[in-house]
Amino acid sequence: MISININIDGLPVHKSSKFQLWPILCNVHEFPYLQALPIGIFYGKSKPTDVNEFLTPFVDEIIPCLENGIVVNDHTISIKLRCFICDSPARAFVKGVVNFNGKDGCLKCTINGEYSYLSRTVVFPSLHCPLRTDAIFRRKGYGKHHTTQESPLQRIPGLDMIKDFVVADPLHLLELGVMKRLLTGWQVGNLGYTGKFSSHHIQRLSAAIESIKLPKEKFIEEFIRIYGEQYITSNIHNLEHIVGDVNQFGSLYTISAYPFESYLFQIKNLVRQGNNCLEQVVNRMLERNAIHERGDKMSENITPKIIRRGSYVRCEIKNEFMISNSFKDAWFLTKNLEIVKMIDATTDCNGGITLHGCPVQNYSNFFELPIRSSCLYIFLVKLFLKSGKTYNINDITCKFVAVPYTQNTIVLLPLLHTICAG
Ligand SMILES: [Zn+2]
Repeated sequence: MISININIDGLPVHKSSKFQLWPILCNVHEFPYLQALPIGIFYGKSKPTDVNEFLTPFVDEIIPCLENGIVVNDHTISIKLRCFICDSPARAFVKGVVNFNGKDGCLKCTINGEYSYLSRTVVFPSLHCPLRTDAIFRRKGYGKHHTTQESPLQRIPGLDMIKDFVVADPLHLLELGVMKRLLTGWQVGNLGYTGKFSSHHIQRLSAAIESIKLPKEKFIEEFIRIYGEQYITSNIHNLEHIVGDVNQFGSLYTISAYPFESYLFQIKNLVRQGNNCLEQVVNRMLERNAIHERGDKMSENITPKIIRRGSYVRCEIKNEFMISNSFKDAWFLTKNLEIVKMIDATTDCNGGITLHGCPVQNYSNFFELPIRSSCLYIFLVKLFLKSGKTYNINDITCKFVAVPYTQNTIVLLPLLHTICAG
């Protein structure tokens, strides 16, 4: 049995037009290191307006998968739909309810928001309102909470229209939501309370944040006391519902939009020009799949080899891992913690490869907080080299990406897929 998380979000493709891609993505809860997968992509002049048109193909496809499982290599795998992870506007749209900033906008409880003339938004200052239930939702018992569009998601068997839509996604609710609002509020002075922070304040605050402990309960009550009811927006109110989501699904990590957000970014990068955006995305995806399939076959029997062109020397170590004597591809870390710039490579009489390189004289941490950067194989390096030595390719811990920093220094960052364990 595997359980899948579904993500639905809009993605503007150009700064200058309103065209948007709306991918429906999934990932597998049991395999958190697998990249998200596309289920379907909508493309249009605006966000999709008709939830039925947008979601019906998905619902029609997923119902048989949930009922019968899917067959992979002759094994039938049962599938469970775990939850929907979306940002607030997308959540409201796919559920067929009013927007998050409407008075009846809370997805989890029956709180009635009120308009604040001070902050010119709808605010939600009450606490402990009765929770919504799937049964009442399905019979449209929540009045103005429902829009005229009934979501086809209601046809999915076993889906809880309240509990299975998380609001506690830490990306949108915490980091980009409440935390960002507080930090900009303190810095710019638009949280009413203090006025603007000086740079001295910001430095002290930064030091304080580094030693911070997680806030306990009563955050919302304290928030009202400090800043006033006019700032209890939908995001602050939703903090009250984090506990419910975590009780239902476990760690916040597992209901996070981060894995989807990075995939959305990749999709956006597949669009190279203004026309036929959807076709571009689909073609690039198909090409990438084809390359991966071919790469899997090729990497099975790749042996290290040296390629020379004039003064250029490249050593191919394994699939998608090569170093060369050109400045950007020359840097590697050894198991003895030497940082080395490759100069040359030769084959010895047994057919093994010897690398010739110059270790740097001097390197240090690029940053010390919150942890020393060297723990992450990130270094600040002065461009003074010792005399040349030889290395075996098995001495390499990882290859670096070199980023120019000052005139005589560079910062080296590890290329993650080249890190060799042990
Ligand atoms: Zn609520």
